[in-house]
Amino acid sequence: KPSSRVTGLVPSGKDGWEVHFEAVTRKEAGEPIIILSVGDHDFDTPKETVEACVEAVRAGHHHYTQLSGTPALRAALAKISTQSTGVATTAEQVIATPGGQAALYAAVQSVLDDGDHGIVVAPYYATYPGTFRAANAEFSVVETRSEDGFQPDAATIEAAARPNTRAILINTPNNPTGAVYTRKALEGIADICRRHDLWLLSDEVYWTLGGGEHVSPRSLPGMAERTLVINSMSKSHGMTGWRLGWLAGPERMIQLLTDLNLVSTYGLVDFISHAAVEALENGYGVKEIAERYGGRRTVFLDAIRGMNDVTVRGSEGGMYVMLDISAIEPDDEKFAWALLDTEKVGVTPGSAFGEAAAGHIRISLCQPEPVLQEAAGRLRRFASSYR
Ligand code: PLP
Repeated sequence: KPSSRVTGLVPSGKDGWEVHFEAVTRKEAGEPIIILSVGDHDFDTPKETVEACVEAVRAGHHHYTQLSGTPALRAALAKISTQSTGVATTAEQVIATPGGQAALYAAVQSVLDDGDHGIVVAPYYATYPGTFRAANAEFSVVETRSEDGFQPDAATIEAAARPNTRAILINTPNNPTGAVYTRKALEGIADICRRHDLWLLSDEVYWTLGGGEHVSPRSLPGMAERTLVINSMSKSHGMTGWRLGWLAGPERMIQLLTDLNLVSTYGLVDFISHAAVEALENGYGVKEIAERYGGRRTVFLDAIRGMNDVTVRGSEGGMYVMLDISAIEPDDEKFAWALLDTEKVGVTPGSAFGEAAAGHIRISLCQPEPVLQEAAGRLRRFASSYR
């Protein structure tokens, strides 16, 4: 029989993605469905990065790499971590992983023993609970409030701390809410970490899509030695399918994680590592992608402005917009199904992301501006005719 370690990692059943799968099925059957329920870019990786990869393949970069990433890759990741977190970072303080999810996995494995407790600030990215389960760790979910724009509240987080709490996991800019945590909110969380001697696991994979200056809690006083930053080229560099992420943190932790790479991934893909260095050094796509999502967010929010009974919450960064539709229909699943049936727009019911996002829908910005405008028009028509 399978081990308990792999059973029940991701409980099956009702998880809110049914609307998405049905939207995809209907689109494939030829219905004019607009899918706003998926979080992958609708465009390809920048061609310069693709060319760099093709060249690397041709040049014979086909071999094992160092376990924590090639020296050139670690140097480039150190440089970008210095930029993204505002903390001078050396190559010894970063480790490359095959994607941000693998970085999350490594982060949770590295700070929680069996039975230890972590705090997860909600709404959160769907894989977080399974990542804690994989470490045999317990976790508590601390909700944020829609009325607060999904900003975390330090007192509520602190109330969830237990004697065996070891870490807090946060994500800013946030998936699914698009909230960009304020410096003040992050200072409150940092204060808890210092007083309770906790690790802060800070998922910053959307750091370039925040619209303004990115604040990493790693830069707050006393936090560099107790923060592991999870990052990835998936969103910032348009490289979801390339699987290149990394962790930045204290050197002693990074060193230990090299052993985890030994027994799990045995290093990175050689030619992808070469292309990644080029993409990081030259910033291929970063500015354009950030501008594209910023433009799409503005276009969509402008298009729904003044829509009766629909309130925008969070929606400051990342790849998503969160709409409070509870004044029209408190049952967000019912709303999402009816929107799909009548106006042929696929969105994600907020309750898929926990209590705080119930009565909301999540809109993905992974469609071109005209499509988002059309979707906003359909949503407006739907909202005004909904009984
Ligand atoms: N963290 C968050 C908040 C995400 O939304 C995602 C992907 O959607 C990831 C991590 C994982 O990213 P990657 O594609 O690098 O594994």
